[in-house]
Amino acid sequence: MTLPRKELFDLPEGVVYLDGNSLGPLPKGAAERAARVIEAEWGGELIRAWNTAGWMSLPERVGNRIARLIGAPEGSVATGDTLSIKVYQALAAALKMRPERRVILSDSGNFPTDLYMAQGLIDLIGKDHVLRTPAPEDVAAAIADDVAVVMLTEVDYRTGRKHDMQAITRLARANGAVMIWDLAHSAGALPVDLTASGAEFAVGCTYKYLNGGPGAPAFIYARPDLIEKVQPALAGWMGHDAPFAMELGYRPAMSTERLRVGTPPIVQLSILDAALDLWDEVDMEELRAASLALSELFIAEVEARCPALRLASPREPGQRGSQVSFRFEHGYAAMQALIDRGVIGDFRAPDIMRFGFTPLYLDSADVLAAARAIADVIDNRLWADPKYRTKSRVT
Ligand SMILES: *Cc1c(COP(=O)(O)O)cnc(C)c1O
Repeated sequence: MTLPRKELFDLPEGVVYLDGNSLGPLPKGAAERAARVIEAEWGGELIRAWNTAGWMSLPERVGNRIARLIGAPEGSVATGDTLSIKVYQALAAALKMRPERRVILSDSGNFPTDLYMAQGLIDLIGKDHVLRTPAPEDVAAAIADDVAVVMLTEVDYRTGRKHDMQAITRLARANGAVMIWDLAHSAGALPVDLTASGAEFAVGCTYKYLNGGPGAPAFIYARPDLIEKVQPALAGWMGHDAPFAMELGYRPAMSTERLRVGTPPIVQLSILDAALDLWDEVDMEELRAASLALSELFIAEVEARCPALRLASPREPGQRGSQVSFRFEHGYAAMQALIDRGVIGDFRAPDIMRFGFTPLYLDSADVLAAARAIADVIDNRLWADPKYRTKSRVT
């Protein structure tokens, strides 16, 4: 498809939306689909809808659509729950696969919930496991033969720095460690080839670049040849081989479905399914080229206009995901002033102003408008207005 395709989204007038890396906008058709599911299916069909409206097979169908976007085969992606839970499941299964090893290796740039889930799991199993978090650039050197699991987020949520998925997975496998990739900032942002990587697990969310809406279900991939070795830590009935046999004992499904837990969120899954319609036509290489062109233009424009802002993302395009971050001492207030002027990005402590580039609905005119607005905020010290200082719960 020719990018951008703004007409496929319901975006408010006068807004330049640079936060699709955190919450994607509303795709056209999604609200209608949700209304149909609620009114006609739930309201009209009641419980029959599990069969008559295809609710029961929806998690699997949506999983297959996501699989295509991350270089995974049909049947290898299960959907549901939240990313935090999927991280936990992948970690627990990975540790079971390396019972003689004690180290979970991640990095200090990882998203806090991924690290918290690892700490919580270590506390629960009460063994002498440890979580190591070297700086992202030191991870490769820290992969040794005592590491049970390497758990990394491919694209750093703060800086946009991208790990070399293929090289790190090779190192992990050469050292006998299980590899888990978090694709939160990769799925729908850049081409991913899970099959080529050989990684055992991958997880991700769908409310960021995939535009599935707030609270959209997460996904988990397990390498197909491993599925019988994957022991589900959360042995819920939807992961059972025959949920409606109502057996007293747990018997996991002989597929990725064993990584499901409970009743799927049908309304959210339907919205995500509608959001994925447009992704069927997206060529990820083309999207990546457009994303880097927008990001390069943004960096050049902001650096030319605002010397006070320091680039926090790698300068080399190949080492970035689909976001650009700048450091600025008054970053929080500056971002609030910017949002007031219709340019929506976000702030990540301590001083990062973060901007996501999503070529499905952004073009170079948007990038230029954003750079001009940033210069206005900085040059005219608009951030100094006390009303921009009060922190909201979500930054
Ligand atoms: C966004 C994000 C999460 C969020 O997890 P939820 O359970 O969906 O709230 C987790 N990990 C990473 C790396 C993220 O970027």
